[in-house]
Amino acid sequence: MHFSTRSIHMGNEKEPLTGAVIPPLHLSSTFAPSGEFSEALYDYSRSGNPTRAGLETTIASLEEGAGALAYASGMAAIHGAFMLLKNGDHVIAGTDIYGGTYRILHKILNRVGIETTLVPLDDLDKVEAAIRPTTRMIWAENPGNPLLSLVDIAALAAIAHRHRALLAIDNTFATPVATQPLKLGADIVMHSATKYLGGHSDLLGGALVVKDKALLKELYFIQNATGGVMAPLDCYLCARGIKTLEVRFREQCKSALWIAQFLESHPAVKKVYYPGLASHPQHELAQKQLRGLHGAVVSFELNADFQAAKRFVSSTRFFQRAVSMGAVESLIEQPASMSHASYDRADRLKAGIDDGLIRLSIGLEHPQDLIEDLQGAFQQALELDAVLAPRIDWDLEAGYFS
Ligand SMILES: *Cc1c(COP(=O)(O)O)cnc(C)c1O
Repeated sequence: MHFSTRSIHMGNEKEPLTGAVIPPLHLSSTFAPSGEFSEALYDYSRSGNPTRAGLETTIASLEEGAGALAYASGMAAIHGAFMLLKNGDHVIAGTDIYGGTYRILHKILNRVGIETTLVPLDDLDKVEAAIRPTTRMIWAENPGNPLLSLVDIAALAAIAHRHRALLAIDNTFATPVATQPLKLGADIVMHSATKYLGGHSDLLGGALVVKDKALLKELYFIQNATGGVMAPLDCYLCARGIKTLEVRFREQCKSALWIAQFLESHPAVKKVYYPGLASHPQHELAQKQLRGLHGAVVSFELNADFQAAKRFVSSTRFFQRAVSMGAVESLIEQPASMSHASYDRADRLKAGIDDGLIRLSIGLEHPQDLIEDLQGAFQQALELDAVLAPRIDWDLEAGYFS
């Protein structure tokens, strides 16, 4: 069964009693089974809920895992994975990771004696050098946030397993459309379902997917004990969003490449970070690992200071100034003051997340409107003459633009 078929049919069986094509939304917090209580499929919604179970089946099938668990948010999923660790354990994480992941590692897990080392994970020698006898987990994003750096998942899995550590991949940016980390050797895949899986900025959710049944059982035990489950309505919305994941993501990737090319040719831009550009240091790995779909997040550095970057992110019309990403609406943000504000400044600058960096999440608006929107921001924020703007070859795909 192909990916798009699975995204529509797995976990979405029609309801037998009424024949409803769309499974009903189960809001009930508790269940009164007719048979033996201890043998009931569902007894209490924290422990199990049919709407959540349907979504978990879908997500597990998209990542080709043995099972999935749906959490109240991406952070709740990350928390669930880190609860596999105990006092004295050590984690290796990428230098450019989501601000919330940085925060839970450095400001929560440190309190219970779990230590973290941040390493540029594209440098495998540095990863090897950072391994300690207590290293139990390597945490990587595919690709990194916000600099879109890539890690070689298969190579990292080999290192992790040689040292009896788990490899966890935050696959939020790539989505299973582009990468299925479990097939490359990862042990845990994590998603902020708030982003591409949901896809419409109207829910909060997270997921973990694993290929090992014993690990799934352990994660389920922790989830049920700590309670961070995804709400049924959010599960319902997410299952609805997933049905269009592949078509949305493919279109968004296409627009993102055009926008990255536009930015790269713009004289006011110092540097563009996008794995689909030949200038990306891991473009070759990206072609393979992201299966030619390089994602819909584009970051760039302006040839300008903090204030100009701040003006820039307030000067667009369709790109709304907001954190988050992965939905049909395009968003713009300045990581230094928004998504990565929870970083210590020194760690942030060391990771290369400069004050003038801007991150775009490309939505499903017409790409020409988006480029014109950016064009306008360059003029407004940097007072650049329109003449400086590069010409875009709109014949790239004849008939695509109307
Ligand atoms: C948003 C995000 C998270 C956190 O997810 P929430 O749903 O906001 O809790 C984790 N990782 C990445 C890469 C994200 O973009």
